[in-house]
Amino acid sequence: MSPEEFRQWGYKTIDWIVKYWENIENLPVLSQVEPGDIRAKLPENAPQTGESFEEILQDLDRIIVPGLTNWQSPNFFAFFPGAISGPAILGDLISGGVAIQGMLWITSPACTELETHVLDWLVDMLGLPEQFKSSGTGGGVIHDTASSACLAALVAAREQANADINKLVAYISTQAHSSIEKGIKIAGLRRENVRFIEVDRNYAMKPDVLEQCIAADLKAGLIPCYLAATVGTTSSNAIDPLAALGAIAQKYNIWLHVDAAMCGTAALCPEFRWIHQGMEFADSYCFNPHKWMLTNFDCTCFWVKDRTKLTQALSIVPEYLKNQATESGKVIDYRDWQIPLGRRFRSLKLWFVIRHYGVEGLQHYVRKHVALAQEFAEWVKSHPSFELFVNPPLNLVCFRYKGDDKANQTILDTINASGKVYFTGTKLDGKLILRMAIAQAKTDKANVELAWQLICEVAESLAVTV
Ligand code: PLP
Repeated sequence: MSPEEFRQWGYKTIDWIVKYWENIENLPVLSQVEPGDIRAKLPENAPQTGESFEEILQDLDRIIVPGLTNWQSPNFFAFFPGAISGPAILGDLISGGVAIQGMLWITSPACTELETHVLDWLVDMLGLPEQFKSSGTGGGVIHDTASSACLAALVAAREQANADINKLVAYISTQAHSSIEKGIKIAGLRRENVRFIEVDRNYAMKPDVLEQCIAADLKAGLIPCYLAATVGTTSSNAIDPLAALGAIAQKYNIWLHVDAAMCGTAALCPEFRWIHQGMEFADSYCFNPHKWMLTNFDCTCFWVKDRTKLTQALSIVPEYLKNQATESGKVIDYRDWQIPLGRRFRSLKLWFVIRHYGVEGLQHYVRKHVALAQEFAEWVKSHPSFELFVNPPLNLVCFRYKGDDKANQTILDTINASGKVYFTGTKLDGKLILRMAIAQAKTDKANVELAWQLICEVAESLAVTV
């Protein structure tokens, strides 16, 4: 493709994206295809000779769009949000265009320095403790996912413990995200040395149970090593009590990692910073701008209090990567802060987002979503046939039709099959719970009203006695 053709098809590709967005509310939110439908439209073999870009773009509408679950629809309330924005996509496009590798400072100083700088900005923007700033012993890095960040923290914790891996114990709540358990499995700790700590009635980890567990493990000759707390659990947005958990972690010299995948973004607003109370105890912390901060996937911001603990755990320097800048000790080489070697220029999209919206623009989205979720919760509370399962601290509403699981499943399945709205459920205390995660960039009151109207209508029409 010549540069001129690239320009021409680049414009047309952007036009295609804008048209897709403009039409998104006419598309079913949940893809309606059957397994194998998409592959059935694809030719058996790859083309022998190149095809025109026009044909390729046309096939997006014919083949790909029917197989999309439209996460950017304002009627998407499932799982967790994946809110995006124009500046983020353009930043990502430029990252693809300049196509540098940011593994070492020398392989593109701008990639490293912009990342370090923007992550320092974010410490202030979120009111995080100064310990995470690069000006002290800490610093931030962008990972692909919270799963990777959690694994990197665990590897650093394992290194810090410097002990027989068979004796190391990790502590998580019964509500922690499955990626943490997966990380523990990958890091090689014994499965029987993972403790799933009981939660209270708000589904937050119980510090007294944690401490009892640690005491029992020490008595048994085991070594407590890693505690992962969650700010905003996936199922119900529970906020683990960081201050109490952190004091215990400090007492027993356990690495405290805090996972705030979706909810961390809320701390952009001073009135929601209570979610991070006790963060000064954390050895590491991560949140995902790719969930609720208008930045398209992938972008997890990950900070450590002591960067040398991370780099000692992850640094191996082969001959071909040696260079004077590294040897000077004056630069950061981010390959030592993550599991892969290669890395994309992810900070560009984050920089674009922060500069385009400013702190106030980003706060506006958070406040809008939290207000919508609180309003939805009021509708649930005032309806005789529905119950709120927990008081929503932020933007996720967990509720239930006052019937059995089958009735709740029917409500979920009927609405999702209609394609008008997509939302998902979870299990809490063995019961099926309906969840509305309200945080897509374009979601407004009318979308939330539509979802609630459908939920009530379906419940009635199914004669599940509303
Ligand atoms: N942690 C929590 C609390 C989550 O809700 C999720 C995703 O749902 C994750 C971690 C995993 O995020 P990622 O896909 O960035 O690994």
